[in-house]
Amino acid sequence: MLQHALTERLTFDREHLWHPYTSMTDPLPTQYVVSADGVRIRLADGTELVDAMSSWWCAIHGYRHPRLDEAVRRQLDAMSHVMFGGLTHEPAIELGRKLVDLTPDHLEHVFFADSGSVSVEVALKMAVQFQRGSGRPGRTRMLALRGGYHGDTAGAMSVTDPEGGMHSMFTDINHRHLFADRPPAPGGDVSAWSADVHQLADRHAHELAAVIAEPVLQGAGGMHVYDPGCLTVLREVCDQRGLLLILDEIATGFGRTGALFGADHAGIAPDIMCVGKALTGGYLTLAATLCTPAVAAGIGRSESAALMHGPTFMANPLACAVALANLELLDERGWYDDVRRLESGLTTGLHPARDLDRVVDVRVLGAVGVLQLDHPVDVVAAAAAAAEHGVWIRPFRDLVYTMPPYLTDDDELRQICAALIAAAGV
Ligand code: PMP
Repeated sequence: MLQHALTERLTFDREHLWHPYTSMTDPLPTQYVVSADGVRIRLADGTELVDAMSSWWCAIHGYRHPRLDEAVRRQLDAMSHVMFGGLTHEPAIELGRKLVDLTPDHLEHVFFADSGSVSVEVALKMAVQFQRGSGRPGRTRMLALRGGYHGDTAGAMSVTDPEGGMHSMFTDINHRHLFADRPPAPGGDVSAWSADVHQLADRHAHELAAVIAEPVLQGAGGMHVYDPGCLTVLREVCDQRGLLLILDEIATGFGRTGALFGADHAGIAPDIMCVGKALTGGYLTLAATLCTPAVAAGIGRSESAALMHGPTFMANPLACAVALANLELLDERGWYDDVRRLESGLTTGLHPARDLDRVVDVRVLGAVGVLQLDHPVDVVAAAAAAAEHGVWIRPFRDLVYTMPPYLTDDDELRQICAALIAAAGV
């Protein structure tokens, strides 16, 4: 591309386009990407960077995968979109079948949403409608966890940690939900935490509809790994009081933590589950909310009987077709071995970071590697340090981390680890 065209576009971008979580008046710099292939993204100046972020945890099979490209092309020849009200199609049906098959036994009903946040909104509505249909209209509040993150739309914000999180400015417009303490790290005091959560749930049982949590890994709320025993506690808390358990598997689903779903680490199943992100392998935006027959029946007994949600792009055929191909590939490539290999490479490769002065914790879970610093990270300087090692990262708060594509090879993984360590040192 001609230099002046590139400069003009970057100027337009800076002056007119909002990027995620950035200022319009004082924006952070952006890199211009021209293409992406395998695990690499290619910048306008020809630089290639290994994407240690999988495009915010989605592109598990990397970019331009022939199977996924082909699935989109084939679907494009049939139709790119039709409304889902009153119409249905093969991509939605076959993807629905696959999700029912992959997720825990009792999750049999699927609502296709157009983003992770929307799937959380749907989950919250399901819980409230279920309680109404069960003769408990006063149960409208959620019990969520401190340190949790569930999305940026209003309902999702209201169950995200209200303090310290990215939504603290909006607490006054948010529905008031309840928050239990952040669950302890593996090996921590699960029984003390359990006693507190049970007590909180007891005090508020009459007004609670559901418990909502990200299983095992709290992602955007701090990359905090917690003891799977806490999930067993949450399941009990719900069972003993007629609450539904909503698990937000948007970040953890499809193998990322070393189990197909985060809940598998504890051998429990939720009543409602949200999946998204890696669902389409990063090709198109799609998420889903699954629920049990009991939840669907409860909703059916509520005054409207219908579940009151229906996005314009619900079950978009292109997105469903690529999601189906993506999940087939997940099975075929043997995600478990990939993720175990990455876990061991991250454990070895990030070990030296333990000796760095300003690194307070090093965490690895499945294909997730995190360096926590003793100070807020300088995002631009840290990304530049990683780019020197040929790697793309986007740190946040005090965290420099990676969630690489599953097909990242051992050399690329070593490169990522070296880049994270360099970024932690700036
Ligand atoms: N829940 C979790 C656990 C997430 O990590 C995210 C996205 N980071 C969301 C919900 C929101 O998903 P989306 O950005 O697709 O709306």
